[in-house]
Amino acid sequence: MLVIAKSEAISGLQILEVSFAVHPGNSQLPLILLTIFLFCGKMLRMKKTQRRDLRSREQKRLDAIADTRPRRTLSFYRYVRIVDPEKFRDRLFTKWSELDCMGRVYVASEGINAQMNVPAMYWDQFDAFVQSQPELKGTPYKIAVEEGEGPSFFKLTVKVRDKIVADGLDDSSFDVTNTGEYLTASEMNEYVDDPDAVIFDMRNNYEAEVGHFKNAITPDNFVTFRDELKNTPVTLQAYKDKKMAIYCTGGIRCEKASAWLKHNGFRNVKHLKGGIIDYAHQVRQQGLENKFLGKNFVFDERLGERIGDEIISTCHLCKKTKSDTHYHCRNQICHTLFIGCDECVKKKDGYCSWGCAMVDKLPAQSKKTLARYYNIYIRKRRPFQKTRMSA
Ligand SMILES: [Zn+2]
Ligand SMILES: [Zn+2]
Repeated sequence: MLVIAKSEAISGLQILEVSFAVHPGNSQLPLILLTIFLFCGKMLRMKKTQRRDLRSREQKRLDAIADTRPRRTLSFYRYVRIVDPEKFRDRLFTKWSELDCMGRVYVASEGINAQMNVPAMYWDQFDAFVQSQPELKGTPYKIAVEEGEGPSFFKLTVKVRDKIVADGLDDSSFDVTNTGEYLTASEMNEYVDDPDAVIFDMRNNYEAEVGHFKNAITPDNFVTFRDELKNTPVTLQAYKDKKMAIYCTGGIRCEKASAWLKHNGFRNVKHLKGGIIDYAHQVRQQGLENKFLGKNFVFDERLGERIGDEIISTCHLCKKTKSDTHYHCRNQICHTLFIGCDECVKKKDGYCSWGCAMVDKLPAQSKKTLARYYNIYIRKRRPFQKTRMSA
């Protein structure tokens, strides 16, 4: 929200400057006054909807950790027409702030995608509020399989976006409502055991690295859903006529992916309802055999929840010890996501390399300069590279 506000403010100021520079004469006075009027109006509107949290990132983290009330982590999504996403965003933000919820929520005219946590003491109020919203009524929640030791989120952000998932697709080029049929957990198990069926992991390579379904084809090179989706019809060409099950973390990515694959001629594509999270719940509740190996990667501070007992990935630092624990490099400039074993993480003090440990000891001003060059020249060119995909 802050970033949007900032860029709007800049564009407003630029309009003002251009108006003065191009039309300095008195004959243009009404235009100048109109520009000022519009600019001030915009500023006032922004003030009304802008809720700036002035605490530093570190302070937010410390405050969240200090708040030890039990919380419930959940996610939910819905593709639904939202007439005024900004207004909707404000309504959600106001209420969920009152209830001390934290999380990352995206709102678009096509729907909502929410990952968040709610203090257990406010759960009933949260649920009553969500169900009272016409756009959200009846939306099923996916409750986290396990809570981490610390909070899953440190703050609440509710952002308006063009889309609720960055899929890179032009929605007008295919029928997005023609999604695949859903699979329950027990049906998914049948697919896993069926030698004629193809299981495809719709997530990114670093997610599949720590956990995936038995016999699944996992993405080897793709770090973003957008890239993967674009290439999937080609990658899976050989399996076009086979019965196919696709899955993701909570089900949202498969809604678009199944419609996209059907559009590309994959007629027998179905997707796991509620994703891996709901699969794990169904397995527990119905006493089914668990066919998901390892961990389900999640996009919050927990970075993963255990589904299967086995560890299928290896430490990125020593490349020897089995581990499926993700860390972000302590060097904030790098912040790379890596898998580390206890010994390596301790030895390298939470950094992904000795280089990062050294960089972090530089004076603040040097780090600032370095960060700027790193972001411009290196980060954009070097996506996350996994070492090796486990079988
Ligand atoms: Zn190691
Ligand atoms: Zn690093």
